[in-house]
Formats: sequence, C-alpha cells, structure tokens
Amino acid sequence: MEQLALMGGKPVRTEKIFYGRQCVGEDDIEAVAQVLRGPYITCGPKVDEAEQKLAAYTGARYAVICSNGTAALHCACIAAGIGPGDEVITTPMTFAASANCAVYCGAKPVFADIDPETYNIDPESIRAHITPRTKAVVAVDFTGQAVKIKEIRAICDQYGLVFIEDAAHAIGTAYNGKMVGSLADITCFSFHPVKTITCGEGGAITTNSKDYYQKLVLAHTHGITREESQMEDAPHEGIWYYEQISLGYNYRMTDFQAAMLISQLNKLEGFKKRRQEIVKKYDAAFKDVPGIIVQREIPESDTCRHLYIIRLDLDKLTCTRRQFFDAMSAENVQCQIHYVPVYWFPFYRHKGYEKGLCPVAEDVYKGILSIPLYPMLSDSDTDDVIHAVKKIAEYYAK
Ligand SMILES: *Cc1c(COP(=O)(O)O)cnc(C)c1O
Repeated sequence: MEQLALMGGKPVRTEKIFYGRQCVGEDDIEAVAQVLRGPYITCGPKVDEAEQKLAAYTGARYAVICSNGTAALHCACIAAGIGPGDEVITTPMTFAASANCAVYCGAKPVFADIDPETYNIDPESIRAHITPRTKAVVAVDFTGQAVKIKEIRAICDQYGLVFIEDAAHAIGTAYNGKMVGSLADITCFSFHPVKTITCGEGGAITTNSKDYYQKLVLAHTHGITREESQMEDAPHEGIWYYEQISLGYNYRMTDFQAAMLISQLNKLEGFKKRRQEIVKKYDAAFKDVPGIIVQREIPESDTCRHLYIIRLDLDKLTCTRRQFFDAMSAENVQCQIHYVPVYWFPFYRHKGYEKGLCPVAEDVYKGILSIPLYPMLSDSDTDDVIHAVKKIAEYYAK
C-alpha cells in the first residue's frame, strides 16, 4: 500500500490544484480591452448584446444581465412579489444566497430536504412544506444537474407558486432537450470565477414572461424607466426625462464585463464538453471504489457539471471526512465542501432554525467533498486526482 503524503509519503503531485478555476483566454482579455478603449464602459451596447446572446442560448424570451448571482436572486424575488409574511421554499444544500434572497424581501426561507442520491431538492419534501403563506420555490440545480423540473412545475401550478430556478451552477445544462433558463418562471445565473463561465462578478436572469421581465429590469436599475408606456406622468417634458416608478437597486453590470461574458458564452459548449469528459472519467474511476459514492444523475438532465462531488461512505472507512480532506490536501489536491447546510449558520440559528430540520441533507453533508473540476485540467491532472482519491480510500478502507 502507498504511504499517504499526510503520513510523510510522497504526494501524488508537486503542484497544488484547486477544486475550481476560471478559464480566461487572450480572446477574453482582448474583448475587455476593446471596450475600455471605447466610449462606454458601463450601460453600453455590450450589455444589450450579452442579454440577446444569453436569451438565444437558453431559449428564454427575455434576459437581464446584472451585477452578480445574488442580485439576480434578489431581483427574481422582487419580480415574484415576495414580501413580509411570505414563505419561500428552498434547499439547505446550497450557497447562502439561495435563502438570503427571501430574507432581503422580508420573507421567511423554509428548507425542504434533498434526495439522498442526486442531492437536489426533493419535490415531495417541497410539497410537505407548503403552507398558505408559501409564495415561491427557489430550486437549486446543485452541481449543475437540473432539478426535477416537471414535478416542481406541477407543484407550483397546483399551489399557485412562482418557480424560481437558482441555476448558478447550471449554465449549459439541458432538461429533456430544453436549456436551463427557459424552463422555470424565472431563472438566475452567476458568473463568479468558480462557476462555469465568468466575467469576474456577474449574474443574469431569464424569463419567458413580459410582466416578470419588466419588473426585473426595474429592480436592477433603481426602479427607473424611460419607457413612456410605463410612466405615470407622461407626456414627458423632453428626451432627458425618466421616472422612478418603484424601488430598485443598482445591480447593473459594466460593459467591459459584458464583453468578457459574451466571449465566455462563445466558449461555453467547449467547456461543457470538457467538463462532461472529466465527469465521465471520474465516474468510471470511482464507481467501484469501496467507501466512495458517486452522485446519481437523472436521465432528463444533460448536465454541464459545475462541481464534482464524491461522497464518503464513512461506514466503510476508518477515517473522518476531515482526515480524508486533509489527506487530499497533503497530496496537493485541494478540495472544498459544498455546502454546510445553510440553516446551520449562526445567522439562521439565531432566527430559530434548528439542526435536524433536513436529516438527509445533514447526513449527505457529513460525507461530501468537491474534487477538482474545470476545463483546463489536463488528463494527467485528472489522473493525479483519481490516484489521490483511490490511494486515500484504500489506505482507510475497513
Ligand atoms: C454562486 C452562487 C450564488 C451567488 O452568486 P454570486 O454571483 O456569487 O452572487 C447563488 N446560488 C448558488 C447556488 C451559487 O452557487
């Protein structure tokens, strides 16, 4: 048996790799530089172009580009009319922003449990948490895999709920042949550097509803309109005139970021292909390793995977997850954990959320770790990752 680097053995590689990394090329840099040399660095033509491109790519009727994924979720909740006294059902197996967006609007996040094999929100648990106050569902395409859209759509239709999809992980994913972004009432994306495509910080919202679209536009730019048809006091005084008709925020994106986003969107299909190749290789390598559980995919989802998660079957290993994680670090493969159940954080605990709310999510959390997945990983990098996982699993096998 190979000696673990953690115990003084030779690490599987000398250069550290991380669980995720942006993929920025000279073409992206040139696209940004071109905008910086021109007349508009914000509120210019590149934002409009990125919106058109994203709408075309996802098949959604409308797209609004905004400053980040969290702003996108906030705008979605505003457009959905969420306010004080409302409840919004989401998953605890996510980044905090999926729940915080309800709190921004004075509403209460309610956590439904997850499926133990896909780790996505369980539609039956959504159903079990519906009350007369429930207004919306924020369903997260965890790791990039589409949620059970058909089932969630049916529940939302039955109870008159707004279906918001947090697709921060899922740009490029399709469900039954249709792109994520065209399926829920409102879909939110993030372009943070760890996500599949990036422009530094960035976000987007897509919808097929003109009504939601108009509200999203207002929410992300101060509630200000220049459209005469939306104005109360028209006929206006001149072409300089605009009106603030609701309370909005400044959640706009700069034009140079939008240029980078367009450049990245052009490469998304290539990124997807490489990500899928790596996922396939990892799945094949890990499926028969004792102590390692591979995430299950539903056949409806053609997933552009953002994260690759291995779940430790701790009954079959002599180590803790912490020891496994540290052993990976010592091999120079830096993992991350996605995610600590959101309601465990002090902010939510102080609001009265208690451990035990979502037993499946809590149990899954105890065994998961995210290993490196991004398009620039070479075959030898992924070989090293597999080597490290197998070496450690073998060492700690019961
Ligand atoms: C990253 C992320 C967000 C927030 O996106 P930002 O662009 O970082 O604000 C929201 N939800 C999920 C699931 C995320 O992973």
